[in-house]
Amino acid sequence: MQKREIDLEIGEVDLPKPLEQISGNEIERKMYIAKVMTKTLSYLTQTFVENGFEWLLPVVFSKSTDPLWPDPGASIEKRIETEVYGETVRTTLSMIVHKIVASSLVMPKLFTLSPNVRVERRERRFTGWHLYEFTQLDFEIRGASSSDVISFVDSIIKGLIFYLKKNAREELKYLNVYDNLRVPELPLKVYDRIWLEKKYGQEWESIFKHEISEPSWIINIPREFYDYEDFSTGQWDNYDLILPKYGEVLSGSRREWEYDKLLKKMERDGVRKENYLLLLKLAREGKIKPSAGAGIGVERLVCWIVGSKHVGEVQLFPKIPGIVYDL
Ligand code: AMP
Ligand code: MG
Repeated sequence: MQKREIDLEIGEVDLPKPLEQISGNEIERKMYIAKVMTKTLSYLTQTFVENGFEWLLPVVFSKSTDPLWPDPGASIEKRIETEVYGETVRTTLSMIVHKIVASSLVMPKLFTLSPNVRVERRERRFTGWHLYEFTQLDFEIRGASSSDVISFVDSIIKGLIFYLKKNAREELKYLNVYDNLRVPELPLKVYDRIWLEKKYGQEWESIFKHEISEPSWIINIPREFYDYEDFSTGQWDNYDLILPKYGEVLSGSRREWEYDKLLKKMERDGVRKENYLLLLKLAREGKIKPSAGAGIGVERLVCWIVGSKHVGEVQLFPKIPGIVYDL
C-alpha cells in the first residue's frame, strides 16, 4: 500500500493552552465554543434517536479494538495495552468491532459517543487536526448500503448547520463565523480517490481540501480489513467526508461480514487474528450481518464550525499530541 503523506503543516499554529493559563477573552471564547458543542451534540443525538437508532454507551477496555492498520492516514506512536483480571485488554482505538457485532446481533441501528485514545506521533501537534484523545460519534446500520449512509450524513450535516444558524446565532456571531457558515446544497459532491490521485498525485488529500468550498466525499480508499473490498475489481466500498480547508471529519464503509474474506484480509495485512477471535467465530457461524456505518470526529466537526485554528481548542482539557497537561 502506498503511504499517504502525513498532513503536516508545521507553522504558525498556536497550541491551545490549559485552562489555568488562559484568562478573560479566551475563557469567554471557550464558553461560546462549549455552547456550540452542546447544541451540536444535542441536535445530532436527537436526530439519531428520531431516526430509530439505539444509543449505545461506549466501552473503554476490550480485547478487540480497531487495528488502525493498514490505514494510510494512521500514525500511532504507542498502543495502550494493560492487564485486567489477568487478561490483556486494549483502550478503544475505535468501536468498529463492537458496532459490527452489536448491529449484527442486537440493534439494527445504533450510535455511540465513544472516547478514542490514539497516541498520535508527537509531531502531529502542529497539524491542528490531531488529538490523542477524542470522541467519535460512531454509528452502524444493519443491511445499509454506502449510498444510504452517504445520504443520511448529507442530511445531518445540512440539518446541523441549519439548526445552528437558527439556534446558536449569538454564539456563531460572537465567534465571528456566522456569515461564512453556509447551509450546503445537497447532495454533497463525491470524488473517487483514483481520480484524485491522477489529478493531484499522492498528496491529494492535503491539496484536495483546499480545492473545495463545501464538505465533499471521497470514496474507494484502500485500508483496514473491515471495509468492504471487491476482490474482482479492486474497488473499496468506503468513504471519507472532507471539510473545506480542514480535512477528514468522517470515515466509514460498507463492512465485510463473510468469514473467508475477513480471515484472508487479516492474514494479508498482518493483522493479529488472535485479537479478533469473537468476530471471526461469529462470522464463521454466519452471525455477522452485512452493515454500513461511519464515525464522525466530534471535536473536528465543531472545530470546523467555530473556525478554530487547532482542534484542541474545542476541548476544555486539550489532548494535544506530545503534550500532557494536568487535566
Ligand atoms: P478513523 O476511523 O480513523 O478515520 O476515525 C474516524 C474519525 O475520527 C476521523 O474521520 C476523524 O474525524 C476522527 N479522528 C481520527 N483520528 C483523530 C485524531 N487523532 N484527533 C481527532 N480526531 C480524530
Ligand atoms: Mg479515517
